[in-house]
Amino acid sequence: MAELKVTQSKDLTRVERVGAHSHIRGLGLDDTFEARNVSQGMVGQKAARRAAGIILQLIREGKIAGRAVLLAGQPGTGKTAIAMGMAKALGEETPFAMMAGSEIFSLEMSKTEALTQAFRKAIGVRIKEETELIEGEVVEVQIDRPAVAGAASKTGKLTLKTTEMETVYDLGAKMIESLGKEKVQSGDVIAIDKASGKITKLGRSFARSRDYDAMGPQTKFVQCPDGELQKRKEVVHVVTLHEIDVINSRKQGFLALFAGDTGEIRCEVREQIDSKVAEWREEGKADIVPGVLFIDEVHMLDIECFSFLNRALENEMAPILVVATNRGITRIRGTNYKSPHGIPIDLLDRLLIISTTPYSEEEIRKILDIRCEEEDVEMSEDARDLLTKIGHETSLRYAICLITAAALACAKRKGKEVEIEDISRVYSLFIDVKRSTQFLMEYQEQFMF
Ligand code: ATP
Repeated sequence: MAELKVTQSKDLTRVERVGAHSHIRGLGLDDTFEARNVSQGMVGQKAARRAAGIILQLIREGKIAGRAVLLAGQPGTGKTAIAMGMAKALGEETPFAMMAGSEIFSLEMSKTEALTQAFRKAIGVRIKEETELIEGEVVEVQIDRPAVAGAASKTGKLTLKTTEMETVYDLGAKMIESLGKEKVQSGDVIAIDKASGKITKLGRSFARSRDYDAMGPQTKFVQCPDGELQKRKEVVHVVTLHEIDVINSRKQGFLALFAGDTGEIRCEVREQIDSKVAEWREEGKADIVPGVLFIDEVHMLDIECFSFLNRALENEMAPILVVATNRGITRIRGTNYKSPHGIPIDLLDRLLIISTTPYSEEEIRKILDIRCEEEDVEMSEDARDLLTKIGHETSLRYAICLITAAALACAKRKGKEVEIEDISRVYSLFIDVKRSTQFLMEYQEQFMF
């Protein structure tokens, strides 16, 4: 590894699909950490959301080190949704990694490798880089104006909109000239006319416009000591340690990121990456963004994994570990001991436990409404009532799955919105767990000899 590669990963476009949790945009809390009824895609589960909000506060104050969160509750009560809400509330760039306890039992990699990868997927590195400026971009200018006839020297920051690269490039002299006349202040936005190179003051309101926000205030345009403006800007992007690992671990590393087939990563590669990142941090070129690692079905981990978790939590770069289970007292895998949630006492001791409770019919209805909107599915009131009833009697997950299937049934009959008949149709085509086990029990005699 001659040169550490990170830049390729910024070309990765993160495609936001309509996933099971794509409607979750935060925890939906107000300023006093009270949970709003319906907010940021979240419905009900108020006590758990409030508790998660307090944990976020601990995280922000740096008081969570060495601890983890356990979400305990029945399937489909929003444990994953809450973990994701926490990550979203910490900021858009906060990495969120998710795995099920059973995933560590793979033939392709060791248990510790699987866990290490999961941890590193949840640790972001915010890298600051300088890149070329593109024509038409909004940039900030750092001005070190020397004393010129009739005006004192001035240091300040300007924001300007480039319309043509050349004009900006030799702007140094013009800027100084026009500064004297126009009384441009630090923070003002100016535009440069393409043809004449004339600088016009756009005023401060422009800086608050969506145009500018979209560019991000981190964009910088620096004036060289010789008075010439450099054609550079500072960009910031966040990649995960895992992405850096993969890109540097083999030739086709970049493609492996898409395939998801990353295999084991050698220790030396990780060591080199860690020391490089430490170097960048010292030089002020990078910061660590601890993310959220969610491990569902944590009772599926075994004793070796639990000791790994205990150690990993002590690391200064550790992400926020959120684990979930729906088990009460059960055996700790790899031992003959029983323990609450199948978790050893030393890890239990570190956990802040939040419990989730089943949803009311009204809450199920609201979640289904949100999901219909997320999936862009038009559904009649009657159909929604029926789906809510199904969700209440079977499971929320099952009802959510039926939305897409019913929309397809509706499209097939060229209907405009999903009606009761579409719901009934998919309800009979795809059976829920209760009916499928019932069916098997009835025919058990014939299946088993
Ligand atoms: P399991 O234990 O089976 O993993 P879970 O408790 O993690 O289940 P989720 O997967 O979070 O449950 O919930 C099932 C579905 O319902 C998901 O699509 C989730 O986004 C949605 N959901 C659950 N709770 C809420 C909520 N309070 N508000 C909005 N959506 C929710």
